[in-house]
Amino acid sequence: MHCSEVRTALSARIDGEAPPPGVTGVALEAHVRGCADCHRWGERARRLKVLAARLGVG
Ligand SMILES: [Zn+2]
Repeated sequence: MHCSEVRTALSARIDGEAPPPGVTGVALEAHVRGCADCHRWGERARRLKVLAARLGVG
């Protein structure tokens, strides 16, 4: 699985949307566990989402 696909799927999950076709939660978790870059990206995206919610954006 490509990092770009993983990030699209992570972003969708954070937004409560369905993941892109062909992407399963298990494959996503496996990639994030093994990829420090995507792990950091996911953490940051989650924080931004929380912040945006607090500010009433998005
Ligand atoms: Zn990655």
